[in-house]
Amino acid sequence: MGRQKSEQLYKEAQQHIPGGVNSPVRAFRGVGGEPLFLESGEGAWLTDVDGNHYIDYVSAWGPLILGHRHPAVIEALQRQLEKGLGYGASTEAEVRLAEEVCRLMPSIEQLRLVTSGTEATMSAIRLARGFTGRDAVVKFEGCYHGHVDGLLVKAGSGALTLGAPDSPGVPEGYSGLTHVLPYNDVAALEEYFAANGENTACVIIEPVAGNMNCVPARTGDLSRLRTLCDEYGALLIFDEVMSGFRVALGGAQSVYGIEPDLTTLGKVIGGGLPVGAFGGRREIMSRIAPEGPVYQAGTLAGNPLAVAAGLATLEAIQAPGFYEALENRARAMLAGLRSRAVSASVPFTANQAGAMFGLFFSEEEGIESFEQVMACNVEHFRSFFHGMLDNGVYLAPSAFEAGFISAAHGEREIELTLAAAENAFAAIQS
Ligand SMILES: *Cc1c(COP(=O)(O)O)cnc(C)c1O
Repeated sequence: MGRQKSEQLYKEAQQHIPGGVNSPVRAFRGVGGEPLFLESGEGAWLTDVDGNHYIDYVSAWGPLILGHRHPAVIEALQRQLEKGLGYGASTEAEVRLAEEVCRLMPSIEQLRLVTSGTEATMSAIRLARGFTGRDAVVKFEGCYHGHVDGLLVKAGSGALTLGAPDSPGVPEGYSGLTHVLPYNDVAALEEYFAANGENTACVIIEPVAGNMNCVPARTGDLSRLRTLCDEYGALLIFDEVMSGFRVALGGAQSVYGIEPDLTTLGKVIGGGLPVGAFGGRREIMSRIAPEGPVYQAGTLAGNPLAVAAGLATLEAIQAPGFYEALENRARAMLAGLRSRAVSASVPFTANQAGAMFGLFFSEEEGIESFEQVMACNVEHFRSFFHGMLDNGVYLAPSAFEAGFISAAHGEREIELTLAAAENAFAAIQS
């Protein structure tokens, strides 16, 4: 497969864009080689600028749960295009989107739209601090909550891929207010709360971690976290930017049966366009301007095109059996990958949460901790990644990213993926 045009564009890109990319993980630093430049997407498929086709498991990093160019989303966008791109004022569609999210996630009584996941978590943290009058924030090792200053501490994926978990430019005064605890370690949680619970504004967690590959939280640990937050008056924030409408219709909170005080959303809620949101109990959300004193605003917040794509997506995912079908397809694919890894004698295991999955090159079964993720064989992943790419399958270019399956991935795509995997696993062995 030729990649001349991608190579040429990458050279040009590096002239005027730092590292040639607008988001670090796109640069392929975690896997070596050069990034693809993409031309189009259709259903489960991507086409690069050289005309090569790939089955896509990145799904624009999560949003495209319906696949590329789903007719309902395209139609909604076309309808809005006829009416204008944005007005910087309220529209009916924003009201409908907020209603829909509150209905699907009952822990959310009020919702504010923003334009990215980063903005959602940043605003939720500010709100939690404003509401509680406390400063300390707790996050977990390997969880990523966007590139918010105070949250760029042991922050997963992009940061892990670059080997730089902390970023220059973040004053110690910011990150010093962030306490980092190990994921899935209830003893550390107890210890922290006993010492600092009373100063803690909030605990932010990915209930299914998707930025240190895919690592679901243990149910017992999450319920204990809920109890501890209540006991000490700290707010519990579920960062469901990735897991919301992805692991289940009601998000991870519906799977675990735990209600957070605040939820942050992004990715699927925008159907592929830039949307984020944060929401939760009315008592807390009413502290946001203009109703309350905690300031938050956005020129493009609730942009009509983005809201149209989001609403169309939220409608489509409510089709009966939608998540069951996705989950079954993902399960079948992961089972196929496991059996091919066994045949090739490559140590390999996988995690799954709904339509989200993680591939681990590890001898261990049941990857539950950040240490286990970090101990995986990155060389094996690199070889597998390139083997898959050469065989027409586009995985996230990092061993620390989750994979996403869409409703457009059918049996044929799964078969082709498994055939590619047979070659890719065999290449590792040799
Ligand atoms: C992607 C992601 C974010 C950041 O969202 P952006 O839209 O990239 O700013 C925050 N939290 C989680 C869990 C994410 O997966």
